[in-house]
Order: sequence, then structure tokens, then C-alpha cells
Amino acid sequence: MILASRNAHKLGEVRQILRRDDIELSPEGLGEPIEDDVTFAGNALIKARYVAERTGTPVVADDSGLCVDVLGGAPGVFSARWSGRHGADQENLELLLRQLADVRDEHRAATFICAAVYVDPRGRELIATGTMEGTLLREPRGEGGFGYDPIFQPHGHDVSAAELSPEEKNAISHRGHAFRALKAELDRLRIG
Ligand code: IMP
Repeated sequence: MILASRNAHKLGEVRQILRRDDIELSPEGLGEPIEDDVTFAGNALIKARYVAERTGTPVVADDSGLCVDVLGGAPGVFSARWSGRHGADQENLELLLRQLADVRDEHRAATFICAAVYVDPRGRELIATGTMEGTLLREPRGEGGFGYDPIFQPHGHDVSAAELSPEEKNAISHRGHAFRALKAELDRLRIG
């Protein structure tokens, strides 16, 4: 099975969530599709279909992002390129902190959303979603995770997502919820 992504950190999370070591990243040189949908599920399907059509292999993919209440749900599907450069995690996080500098603590609610999909060469497609709610901090904390994890404090925790162990994060994360739901559906249908 392939995870349609170039993000090694994401691969580690997905392997651990699905308890499978036989998942690999997209092969080098395959190119990448334009993620031009405006929903997480739509973009996840674009990535998965692109790889499934070119490799003839079952593929899982996810599209995810951070939705900030006071910004009307932004960065949302633009989370990976919020500062203008795709995948610039540090710049994205710093821009978001500057934008929210004057926002009081009680208005800093945000939700991570993940759509996880399965697509295979026979054209079977499944979609599952997951969320993780929390609050945005004022300064980055912690060394773990990726993306906006250092400024996101999940509900019920007094540390940032980057201060959780990988197991702790996967147990509560949007990606954990989405991929566990996807796996349950694959198991129910006896595919994957
Ligand atoms: P994707 O790889 O196209 O799904 O982009 C997702 C973007 O959303 C990443 O580049 C991060 O900025 C953000 N993001 C998604 N999931 C997480 C997470 O678990 N922690 C922190 N940031 C995340």
C-alpha cells in the first residue's frame, strides 16, 4: 500500500495508526497533482487517484489542515501554503501567530480536520474524517510533531501537540481518528 504523500513525518504517523509497516511514500519522480479542490476530502481524493492510476497499487491519502474559528475556518485547505510557500511549516506558523497577536485567549479556538481516503486500481473509494479541537498558544512549545503542532494545545491537555509523544498525539489527533475510521471500514468490507 502507498501513502500518497512526500511527508515522512505523516508516513510515520499513518504507519503507527494503522499498525502496518508495509506502507510506503509515493515513488520518487511520480510528480504531484494540483490540489485544486476546496475541501479536504476532495484534495485527498485528487492525491490518491493520481498515485493509484500511475502505480496500479492500492493507495491511502489524507488532506488535513487547521481551521481557526476567529479567521472563519482559515487557513483550512490552505494550511500547508498559508505563508505563500508550500510546506514552509515555520513560516506558516509565524504568520498565523502574527495575525492572531491581538486576539484574546478566549477567542483562540481552532480545530484540526483530516480527511483520509482509500482508492484502489479497481476504482473503489472510501472516505473518513476526523477532528481534534483545541486552542492556539502565543508561542511555539515542544519539539515533536510537525506543522502547527507547537502552537496548538489540544482540549483536555496542558501541553502543545508538539509536546505529546507520538502515541499520545495519534490517540487524539484528527489523523488518528480519520485513519482508524478508514481502517474499520476497510476491515468491514474485507479490503485493503
Ligand atoms: P497536507 O499535507 O496537504 O494535508 O497539508 C496539511 C497541512 O496542515 C500541513 O502542512 C500542516 O501545516 C497542517 N497540518 C495538518 N495536520 C497537522 C498536524 O497533525 N499537526 C500540525 N499541522 C498539521
